[in-house]
Amino acid sequence: MKIILLGAPGSGKGTMAQKLTSELKIPQISTGDIFRKNLKEETPLGLQIKDILNSGGLVPDEITIEIVKNRLAESDCANGYILDGFPRSIAQAKALDTFQNIDCAVNLDVDNATIVSRLSGRRFCPECSGTFHVSTLSDPSVCPVCGGKLIVRKDDSEETVLERLRVYETTTLPLIEYYKARGKLLTVNGTGGVEVVYRRILDVLHK
Ligand code: AMP
Repeated sequence: MKIILLGAPGSGKGTMAQKLTSELKIPQISTGDIFRKNLKEETPLGLQIKDILNSGGLVPDEITIEIVKNRLAESDCANGYILDGFPRSIAQAKALDTFQNIDCAVNLDVDNATIVSRLSGRRFCPECSGTFHVSTLSDPSVCPVCGGKLIVRKDDSEETVLERLRVYETTTLPLIEYYKARGKLLTVNGTGGVEVVYRRILDVLHK
């Protein structure tokens, strides 16, 4: 299955993609993770996009599309994949349509108040890319999965969160209509516990 996960920053795309990946045995392709890895390793791409990521803006479409196109051409994507964080603009969605035929776009619907609360308590593990909420951690600095040191992502600072939400509303939100018009949109209520939301996703995928 070729699945896109849509939703605002903090809507749970990454968490749900990780669960779907292990259940469906298809890879999670997260453009955010790809960009953060380049940033951490200080590759030429990483240096080029550093300021964009830290300010909450979007990496230019040409760069992002090229990366995703090459990644989806790899053999582990032959039986499907979960796109987490791509596409994020109509231009990206149109480009994707020229080289892949996706099955569905699952939109995680979450209200703004929940998003702000989730992002402000979010902790990230640079070792395993796990994302957690402080309210669920016995030690807010240790990754419960791999023992790595948890951090607050630079782009989760209050100012950057507001900019990311603004960019989401102007540039990414129109994708909901884009996939609806093509009969590929599945909407899921993204509020509630991880297992509850995950069940809802499996239910719509099975229908
Ligand atoms: P995420 O982890 O999905 O929230 O992505 C983190 C950051 O990576 C975003 O705020 C953007 O700066 C960049 N990014 C991720 N995916 C894309 C995309 N599809 N297009 C442009 N920039 C992206």
